Amino acid sequence: MAKITRVWLDESEYECTMCGSCEAVCGSVFEVPEKMVIKEGADLSLKEEIEEAAKGCPASTIAIEYENSGKRNNPLIDRY
Ligand code: SF4
Repeated sequence: MAKITRVWLDESEYECTMCGSCEAVCGSVFEVPEKMVIKEGADLSLKEEIEEAAKGCPASTIAIEYENSGKRNNPLIDRY
């Protein structure tokens, strides 16, 4: 499986609701002081936790980019 190379807040379609779900699932990568931010130096090798957080995001605002591929938004994760 391809490694995750980047994770970010993508509000091009919807806005982060600041629900805190991503932080609850993977607090070493996500924090929600207001809107979600990726922690500095976050360990992107935590692939399963990051994907779980993205799948659980009610606003589909967590974007993931994989090695050698383009951006994958939350609803598309299961396809890869
Ligand atoms: S799960 Fe989604 S909507 Fe909720 S705080 Fe995280 S990024 Fe924002």
